[in-house]
Amino acid sequence: MKIAVLPGDGIGPEIVAEAVKVLGVLGLDFDMQTAPVGGAAYEAAGHPLPESTLKLAMESDAVLFGAVGDWKYDTLDRPLRPEQAILGLRKHMGLFANFRPAICYKELTHASSLKPELVAGLDILIIRELTGDIYFGQPRGRRVATDGHFPGAEEAFDTMRYSKPEIERIAHVAFQAAQKRSKRVTSVDKANVLETFQFWKDVVTEVGKQYPDVQLDHMYVDNAAMQLVKEPKRFDVVVTGNMFGDILSDEASMLTGSIGMLPSASLNAKGQGLYEPSHGSAPDIAGKGIANPLATILSAAMMLRFSLNQEAAAQRIETAVQQVLAQGLRTPDIYSEGTTKVSTREMGDAVVQALA
Ligand code: NAD
Repeated sequence: MKIAVLPGDGIGPEIVAEAVKVLGVLGLDFDMQTAPVGGAAYEAAGHPLPESTLKLAMESDAVLFGAVGDWKYDTLDRPLRPEQAILGLRKHMGLFANFRPAICYKELTHASSLKPELVAGLDILIIRELTGDIYFGQPRGRRVATDGHFPGAEEAFDTMRYSKPEIERIAHVAFQAAQKRSKRVTSVDKANVLETFQFWKDVVTEVGKQYPDVQLDHMYVDNAAMQLVKEPKRFDVVVTGNMFGDILSDEASMLTGSIGMLPSASLNAKGQGLYEPSHGSAPDIAGKGIANPLATILSAAMMLRFSLNQEAAAQRIETAVQQVLAQGLRTPDIYSEGTTKVSTREMGDAVVQALA
């Protein structure tokens, strides 16, 4: 089980260290190799995704990723910015399926900005297509307009596009995930306005016929954004394109109270995956020892489940996380009166202890 460990920037190294510590006490045989990525790699090798880091990732069964980015790199040319590393890894590894669970732990119900009864027991899985859509579609760029409202004016443009196989493969992933849960899929689109998403809807409907045991419904993205805060528990598996998924998964993550609790997985067709917390590098708290490492630890659990075929170990970690929450241990982002405030390292140690 070869794991590429890419801590990255900001709080990345602090939270990844805790996940590595947890993996180390499972009694399993991992080959873990660490490499720089993002701003750290730019400093060390002049590029956010050096050849050697990419090679290590491609040759591994899974990548455990921290986070990349820092405001100090905002003035660099776009291809050299830390965030390009994650886009490069997705592209080169073909990571087309992004799993973002939004689970509201009962101990943290009060941390949500919604009323407790709306989020208690919430367990949504957002499946976002990750390598297509307007984020990757060509052509894109800047030019002088020859038509539109202001011919002769400077303009910028991007291209939204999806091919049938791209939609089919993410739809299969969603239906198969739903079969292991409550057998419901909501496909989110904008079919009323966009040709690309009328096509999306048609193809998902077609694929759905192969899964008669799964109930499929469709929802426009604007309504989905509204329903997520009005009645989030109506959703189970949500499948959508790259841009809508980007926005909706962040919205769903906040329902659970803290972004510091949410893991994610990005998988390719071979089952190779990149596992990272849903949050970024949090430069505002980096180096202070107060970042919540649980999203990264839970990402390691997803890695064991999806890429390393170690379901029992994945469940052990998830149970251990629930135990430390039940003990009342909290990093500052999820702290409330009556609980015990702990540091990043203390939280990692508590998970290790719960595993023992
Ligand atoms: P962010 O997710 O890093 O932080 C948002 C807020 O959440 C901050 O207040 C931060 O302190 C807090 N937070 C995040 N993770 C936390 C944790 N584990 N524990 C406690 N608090 C936590 O988003 P941002 O501030 O918009 O972006 C910061 C940098 O991260 C930017 O450079 C951005 O491009 C980058 N980023 C990287 C990724 C990635 O690596 N995949 C994803 C998103 C943003």
